[in-house]
Amino acid sequence: MKKLVILGGGESGVGTALLGKAKGYNVFLSDKGKIKEKYRDVLLNNEIEFEDEQHTESKILNADIVMKSPGIPDKVALVKQIRNAGIMVVSEIEFASNYTDATLVAITGSNGKTTTATLTHHLLKQELDVGLAGNIGDSFAKQILEKNHKNYVLEVSSFQLDDIHDFKPKIAVLTNITPDHLDRYDYKFENYIASKFRIVENQTKEDYFIYDADDEIITNWLQNNEIQSKKLPFSLTRKIEEGAYYEDKKIIITIDNNKIIMPTDNIALEGKHNVKNAMAASAVAHLLKIRKQTIRESLENFQGVEHRLEHVLKINKVQYINDSKATNVNATYFALESMNAPTVWIVGGVDKGNEYRELFQFVNEKVKAIICLGVDNKKLIEAFGNMVDVIVETQYMTEAVKIAYKLADTGDNVLLSPACASFDLFENYEDRGRQFKDAVRNL
Ligand code: ADP
Repeated sequence: MKKLVILGGGESGVGTALLGKAKGYNVFLSDKGKIKEKYRDVLLNNEIEFEDEQHTESKILNADIVMKSPGIPDKVALVKQIRNAGIMVVSEIEFASNYTDATLVAITGSNGKTTTATLTHHLLKQELDVGLAGNIGDSFAKQILEKNHKNYVLEVSSFQLDDIHDFKPKIAVLTNITPDHLDRYDYKFENYIASKFRIVENQTKEDYFIYDADDEIITNWLQNNEIQSKKLPFSLTRKIEEGAYYEDKKIIITIDNNKIIMPTDNIALEGKHNVKNAMAASAVAHLLKIRKQTIRESLENFQGVEHRLEHVLKINKVQYINDSKATNVNATYFALESMNAPTVWIVGGVDKGNEYRELFQFVNEKVKAIICLGVDNKKLIEAFGNMVDVIVETQYMTEAVKIAYKLADTGDNVLLSPACASFDLFENYEDRGRQFKDAVRNL
């Protein structure tokens, strides 16, 4: 019996344990931290051997194959030992995709993965049997075991791509590339770019690669590297013969001489970035033969994903918007760009080496006041201090929202789009977003 060792007892780890056991592996799961109650119960009920708050090397280094959770960095000593011992290390998408013949749509990028994956799933599910997995929702491995869908939309991070070998999506989508997570890539942007492009490495000429043709990092890489799959670029700024583009508020998609045109006036999602996401998702749907009418209706009734430019409430004709998921400058760029009224902007948190210059134009044009919500706001005050009349600091969400309420006039927006991680004052971005919404509702 082959031995499968799983590092990490979260959603992907426990799902892989279940699938591995069903496929005849001797499974051992090990987590350095504490395993959550609900996962512990699953492991116990399924008689899967596990440990937590420790790694017992003797039970790990005799593995035939190791599935490593995406959260565990390569620099961890145990991972180095495993690799040095020549044991194959895989991610969940690699392990699980060996056990399905389903059509796989894999979506990666620095920003927009969740939105694009959720929207794509929403379009496909109207007419196809399709699961949504990867970095989102129920584990991919578990769904293969229990649901056996004919199609999957997978949200894929660079960390999952780092440990693939044969993973081969029928359709790969790359939304954009901006510097992120560089601490896991030896602080080399090129390593992170290479990781993202592994999404196409096993594709053949029967497969498709959908990507943002306005992103120079992506187009430069494609100029210098050959790929096998059929390229379907999308663009906001120029006509695309084979692929998708945006003109006169319409999305035009052409694939194999088959053209569809979709008006975007009634799409609920806002902002140019979401037009890009809609182009990518609609191109996937068109490729998988979803009817034009269905695509159009589904684009219109898709309500977006929580914490991404989420409209919370209107109070005294002031719109409160929760974009807590904007943990980097690029995401905030598109949030500010999409503001169509004077905006009170709540920003700040843990700065991941941010370069704020690209926001200056929008701050000058649209931002009337800034509320810095972080432990250390020095960099924000230096960058924007003389650009707006009012800039204040606080470390409490309730206070930030109250100040915003006082500063905003009829017709204005109050936007939480932090451009920073949340860990200085909040548990995570969801916690930050929820606290914002609670504070707004309590006004
Ligand atoms: P991810 O899963 O890649 O983190 P999300 O869909 O959760 O992406 O969005 C993260 C943040 O980026 C949100 O603030 C969202 O409004 C913004 N965003 C969404 N799509 C894009 C895009 N195509 N380009 C830039 N920013 C985007």
